[in-house]
Amino acid sequence: MKPISKIAKGIAPSATVAVDSLAKQMKADGIDVIGFGAGEPDFATPDQVKVAAIKAISDNQTRYTPAAGIMPLRKAIAAWMKKEYGVEYQPSQICVTSGAKHNVFVALQAICNPGDEVILPAPYWVSYEEAIKMAGGVPTIVQTSEATRFKLTAEMLEKAITPNTKAVILTNPSNPTGMLYSRQELEALAEVVLRHDIYVVSDEIYDQLVYVGEFTCFATLSDEIKERTITINGASKSFAMTGWRIGFAAANEEISKAMANYLSHSTGNPCSVSQYAALEAYSTEDDLVGKMQLAYTRRRKYFLERIAKIPGLSCLEPDGAFYIFMNIKEQIGRTIQGVKINSSADFAQALLEKGLVAVVPGEAFGAPGYIRWSYATSMENIREGLDRLEKFLAE
Ligand code: PMP
Ligand code: GLU
Repeated sequence: MKPISKIAKGIAPSATVAVDSLAKQMKADGIDVIGFGAGEPDFATPDQVKVAAIKAISDNQTRYTPAAGIMPLRKAIAAWMKKEYGVEYQPSQICVTSGAKHNVFVALQAICNPGDEVILPAPYWVSYEEAIKMAGGVPTIVQTSEATRFKLTAEMLEKAITPNTKAVILTNPSNPTGMLYSRQELEALAEVVLRHDIYVVSDEIYDQLVYVGEFTCFATLSDEIKERTITINGASKSFAMTGWRIGFAAANEEISKAMANYLSHSTGNPCSVSQYAALEAYSTEDDLVGKMQLAYTRRRKYFLERIAKIPGLSCLEPDGAFYIFMNIKEQIGRTIQGVKINSSADFAQALLEKGLVAVVPGEAFGAPGYIRWSYATSMENIREGLDRLEKFLAE
């Protein structure tokens, strides 16, 4: 048989999805595992959003829609961007997709030629690297460290740029580290972006989940920056709507048109019922996120207090999102529960098998030596999970 495509062969499965599926399967098999793998809100979708979806079904809003989403939703998202960040987009500049993950994919398809380099600061969310490759691009990984709070600096960006650089991906606040860029840090990056005339894919899906500092939408920095920025956001995290699969991108007219063309040939359109649900989430005056923000704030605080008391582990205090990015480098080389730990992947594997706690190893994010915990789970699970971690480490 002839070989399958080289690009397809080079794509690894998503480690976050894999850990989550494994933990769910173990649970279904009756194993008492606690999952900290997937970054998925544990809250129910707000009632009024569900009601809007039920109404859409009753009203027979169950047909194909325009590829980049129904006009009322694109208008509501443009109005939401204006209300939240004061940035102006025409509805035609908003592309609604089946989840923000698909928008990352389509955005990269829209801007990359084969061989174009896309700068990706590590630690990075697992899907970017593969999405760059699927677009024929070449990921240029820039390793950051705790010294810059895992953030890309203007100097690092400058150094990574070559004549083939097409774009840089920024995640603010970050998955997996939870770090938030200050306005000054973004302005310094913006200066380099403009000087080299590259695009910015700014993934702001955790914009509503910030506990320390103030979030800045990259596209608001200047008109020139707005022209070169594809903002990625969506309903999954802010409104606890992961399963509805609604994300959006805001970009210049040329890019949004190219993305809409891609969508018209791929998914056709995002689910019609989900679009009506998202329309409610993006147009309501009610506060849908406050309660969740408060719960995450408490969990984050508890997590940090507990970690501070466990020898041989550490983590920087995250500013936003719902992740703890734990440094486990001191554990490497140890034998824990009879298992020799040679890497963070070994640690995560042993913690799952012996401690019945599922976390994602840093290798998945281009950051060996770390493990990621999602605190989008109940306080009870967090308490028990950390008890298990302590027990695991002690024996
Ligand atoms: N970007 C980041 C940084 C994420 O963590 C996620 C998590 N799923 C996504 C995009 C995609 O979100 P979704 O496809 O559920 O909208
Ligand atoms: N983005 C979430 C995570 O990082 C959900 C899983 C995924 O889509 O990667 O865990």
